[in-house]
Order: sequence, then structure tokens, then C-alpha cells
Amino acid sequence: MIRGDKITEIGTSLRGNADEVIDGTGKIALPGLINTHTHLSMVLLRGYADDMRLQDWLQKKIWPLEARLTPEACYQGALLGSAEMILSGTTTFMDMYFNMQDVARAVNQTGLRAFLSYGIIDLFDSAKAKAEQHRSQEFFQYIQSLGNARIQFALGPHAPYTCSPETLVWAKEFAERNHIIDHIHIAETRKEQADFQKQKGARVIEYLNKLGALSNRMLAAHCVWLTKSEITTMAKEGVSVAHCPVSNMKLASGGVAPLPEMFEAGIAVGLGTDGAASNNSLDMFETMKTCALIHKAHRWDATVLNAQKTLDLATIEGARSIGIQDEVGSIEAGKKADIILLNTDLPNLNPIHGESTVVSNLVYSASPANVDTTIVDGHVLMANRQLQTIDLKKTVEDASRIATQMTHAT
Ligand SMILES: [Zn+2]
Repeated sequence: MIRGDKITEIGTSLRGNADEVIDGTGKIALPGLINTHTHLSMVLLRGYADDMRLQDWLQKKIWPLEARLTPEACYQGALLGSAEMILSGTTTFMDMYFNMQDVARAVNQTGLRAFLSYGIIDLFDSAKAKAEQHRSQEFFQYIQSLGNARIQFALGPHAPYTCSPETLVWAKEFAERNHIIDHIHIAETRKEQADFQKQKGARVIEYLNKLGALSNRMLAAHCVWLTKSEITTMAKEGVSVAHCPVSNMKLASGGVAPLPEMFEAGIAVGLGTDGAASNNSLDMFETMKTCALIHKAHRWDATVLNAQKTLDLATIEGARSIGIQDEVGSIEAGKKADIILLNTDLPNLNPIHGESTVVSNLVYSASPANVDTTIVDGHVLMANRQLQTIDLKKTVEDASRIATQMTHAT
């Protein structure tokens, strides 16, 4: 039973009348999936530049195109990305990008739950740092002016190698003062660690710890290249991790994020797709499966990450990594009504050998095509695979047109 934005009761025979009854016969109800790291409007760059070395990919393809991203393009990209997420059962996402007011405008319409951050890059220039911090504060005020609890602001210092110490410490303090998330990229590549050791005489986490930039408000994306002592420091400071296995493989980051050690240390870990330019989808089912498989392959141990734990990473643990585990991430009375229903009448979810295999099927065999209904904050955003808040045909056409204009101009 859902009243307003909350689940009020769970059972097979519920009291009271409902305005609307959704027939769940033969369907699986799951908490909505949580994508803890993406750059939503990057869906416009999907497929534009693949199979390239990271620096070539960024410098020759991605950055020149990003320089052409207009507010309207980011709005259209956010609509396209929202449609993809609703169709694939994602109900909450953490975003970091540009033209964020336009992303917020799109998310306001589409009904998803979002944590939006403006990606701060100051390149160690103090005038730019001030300007970027100011932009972020303006966006914070804009989000507050929306007065919509579903759309939250997060800080977004891009990375320790693109942001000055002043900005990193400012972000930490701003996040603590305002009880918001400090969303950042950390230790994505081995080169990043090598450069820090060469230039600062410290590994990235040691550097951030010395600055006093770590806190339990920090959500660190990637964290592929970490030592055990860095993991211990992160756990001590309460830093959470957004693990993005598909993006790490596609960009050939080389290592595999040390999840077993993070779990052992008690670090909260969520799953992310990263932007669609480095994935190339926003499909959390694919991310779950890839996550379970890469750790098994990497550790030569099939027990290192089981299906239930993997599903937890995409739901309740993802919620914990952004501090909203009391609100979403599981289906419980009193929590927000963020629920997805999956059809079990397709071949890929059959047969079902008892209840315990349902979770295995969900992680190892389910796909977005199984998602039938998506509910966020008590609102039905998709019913019988029909989007309720987005004109899909128009969104695909508009986004494709704007993406074509951008790529033809380069
Ligand atoms: Zn990213």
C-alpha cells in the first residue's frame, strides 16, 4: 500500500481502499535500483568515440564535444537518459556534469530521484576556484528554490588532479555544513596514483587525508587503484565508494577496484554506470552482472561476490553509500515508494527453482526488458513498459537531432 510518497503497509490482504490497484500477479517487486555515479547528459555522446586510449579519447573526442554542450543539449540529454533509466528500473541516481539547472529541469519533469552536482574543475587557478565555487553555490540555491525533496544538491569537485586543495577543503566543509554529499572521482587510473606520488610525494588518499578533505559526506567514484592502507584511511574517515566496473573495463583502467577489502573495512559501496560515453548504457542490470563476474574472474574465487550481495550493492548498499538508507533501497513500510516490478513471463527469468534462485536470475539473467513498472516517490513513471512522464518518440528525436548538430559542428 502506497499513500503519498510512502509505503504504508506490506501484505497479501491490505486494509483500506486504493485509488489505483496495480496487478502484480507473476511479477517480482524490487526496490528501485540506485545508480551512484553517472553524467546523465553524456548519453548524447554515446557511441561517438569508442575503442580509444583514455587520453586520446578525452583530448581528441570528448572534451572538444563537451565544449559544445549547450543548456538545451544538456536538457535533452537528461530527458533521454531519464527515459533510459526509468525503462531499466533505476529510480535514484547521482549525477555530476555541466548546465545542471537544465538537468534539474528535466529531472523535475521526469520524476526520478536525483542528487545533482555541478562538476567543479579549477585546474589549480585560484580565480577560477572562486568562480567555480560560486557557480556551485548558485546551483545549490537553485535546487533549494525548487523545494522538491526528490531533487537534492550535491557538491561535485571533479577530482584531486583537477581541483586545488582550497576547493577540495571548501567542498568538504560546505558538504558538512549543509549535510550534503561531496561527490568526486578518485584513483581511477594507475597514472593518477603515479603522478601524485611523483608530484606530491603521497598517494591520493594520503594527500586528501593530509589536506583534511576526507569525510563521511564523501562519495568517491572508481577507487580502482588503492592500497590497503588507503582503504583503512577511507574507512576511518567514513568515505563511501561508487564502483563502476563497466566503465573501468571499457576505459582499460587496468586494475579491479578492491571490493572485498573495502567490504572487510566496512566501507559503504554502491554501483554506478558512469557516463554513457564510457559504458555505453545506463543499464544497472548489466552493471550488477559485470560487477559479480569481474570480481570472481579477478580473484579466481566464485564465492567472492554472490548474487544477493551484488543486488544489495545496487539497492540498499547504494542507498547507504549516499546516506539515504532510511528512506530508500528496500521495500519497507515507512520508506519512500520507489519500487519496480519485473515481468517473469520472459524466457530469461525462467524457470524459477524456488525463491532463492529469483535473486540469481535477477543478477545473472535479468535485463531492462523485464522491467514492467517503475514507481518513484509514489508516482508511476512507467506502467506496462509505457513511460508516463516522457514522450519517448519525441525525446529520442530531439536528443538525436541535437547530438547530430554537435558532432557535425566539430
Ligand atoms: Zn565519472
